[in-house]
Amino acid sequence: MTRVLDPASESVIAEIADTPVGEVDAAIGRAVAAYETWRAVAPGDRARLLRRFAAVVDAHLEELAALEVRNAGHTIGNARWEAGNVRDVLDYYAGAPERLTGRQIPVPGGLDVTFHEPLGVVGVIVPWNFPMPIAAWGFAPALAAGNTVVLKPAELTPLTALRLAELGREAGLPEGVFTVLPGRGAVVGERFVTHPAVRKICFTGSTEVGTRIMAGCAAQVKRLTLELGGKSANIVFADADLEQAAATAPYAVFDNAGQDCCARSRLLVQRPVYDRFLELLEPAVRALRVEDPARETAEMGPLISAGQRDRVAGYVDGAKTAFTGSCPDGPGFWYAPTVLLADSPADRHWREEVFGPVVSVLPFDDESDAVRLANDTEYGLSGSIWTRDVGRALRVARAVESGNLSVNSHSSVRYWTPFGGMKRSGLGRELGPDALHAFTDVKNVFISTKE
Ligand code: NAD
Repeated sequence: MTRVLDPASESVIAEIADTPVGEVDAAIGRAVAAYETWRAVAPGDRARLLRRFAAVVDAHLEELAALEVRNAGHTIGNARWEAGNVRDVLDYYAGAPERLTGRQIPVPGGLDVTFHEPLGVVGVIVPWNFPMPIAAWGFAPALAAGNTVVLKPAELTPLTALRLAELGREAGLPEGVFTVLPGRGAVVGERFVTHPAVRKICFTGSTEVGTRIMAGCAAQVKRLTLELGGKSANIVFADADLEQAAATAPYAVFDNAGQDCCARSRLLVQRPVYDRFLELLEPAVRALRVEDPARETAEMGPLISAGQRDRVAGYVDGAKTAFTGSCPDGPGFWYAPTVLLADSPADRHWREEVFGPVVSVLPFDDESDAVRLANDTEYGLSGSIWTRDVGRALRVARAVESGNLSVNSHSSVRYWTPFGGMKRSGLGRELGPDALHAFTDVKNVFISTKE
């Protein structure tokens, strides 16, 4: 049994039974059985069911958002976006079944065609930081491609995933097509990896666990998508719109209390404007509204757990703090937005993923210095580049080893564009037009026309 807490009040909001391994096996068995009928559903009918699922999610958007505010401490504004993202991802991939076309390749003596075959049962393993969107980025394209799905939410945040499974059934998904199994990573998650009928793992979480899962998948040559950690750079050149760069920098790292794999937690500022930039950044950080996430005005809520708060504090202790924002007193896992000055790129808070509302600042000299410092990390997930020089923006965007970059903005996730990491930030891409192919295998068929 796992006790689920409201991180803003520390009160227990639910007790959820952990799925034992025998029940995981039984659910995988049902998903295998359901696969035979689900893959045979006519493309137009599968599309219609996914569109209906999207409509049911839309009709429950406020309920799902309120549930996430309570379970994950997300601000109500963010939680509404997240529930809306589930709807949009379902709608987007609902367009896929009738368009999942193969090729006809010219060959002598016959006809050669390719098919994108579904894989079978897909196991989706989700972290606690964005429980709804990350679940949907796995299950929506997997279902659209004709697979069935078993999904394990994080121990701390199972509630919205469980509700989404109910809404899927309400929308008409047949039994066994989409099953949510709450429980321990070492039990439910591991079983997805070791069970031979699960043909693909779609994992989002820490690089440490992802590395173990990759090794486990290797034993069966199991297909795998990994979305792992990040330590992304926000690079501000001297010619940038400094006011805009400083006004937006807090949101690029403190959104979701910094528990965001895309958080721009390394702030690189060109030396001539370093002091000016910090002067502009300070009021923006102090003005950030850290409060009860259910309030419409909230810009940041609490951290997910007491353990996470301790972990974050461990990075700040002994480091050079430039300034901090504020946060409520009393119950809840609160942590004030914090700006640290790095002495060198060797500082622990500069190198490691803090996964909290902490940003480290370091000056740089020129373009090549900025690229060198930005790439001096094992991660490569996202990042931002602020400059008015278009040529430089493009040169730096091409040179930074990262899967998702934005220029003069901090956007990284749109459901119709690819998302994923380079280096140890991940393997494969989610979202966008190509993600579907990560849930299929190409089959080539030759038909002889010889008499
Ligand atoms: P985590 O790796 O501890 O857990 C993620 C999921 O894996 C949970 O559901 C957990 O129960 C499960 N798990 C744990 N051990 C397992 C095992 N041995 N076998 C199978 N499953 C297991 O990560 P977390 O603390 O929940 O999430 C934070 C991490 O996720 C951060 O590092 C963050 O950067 C990363 N993240 C990455 C992305 C991305 O898209 N790249 C997005 C969000 C979060």
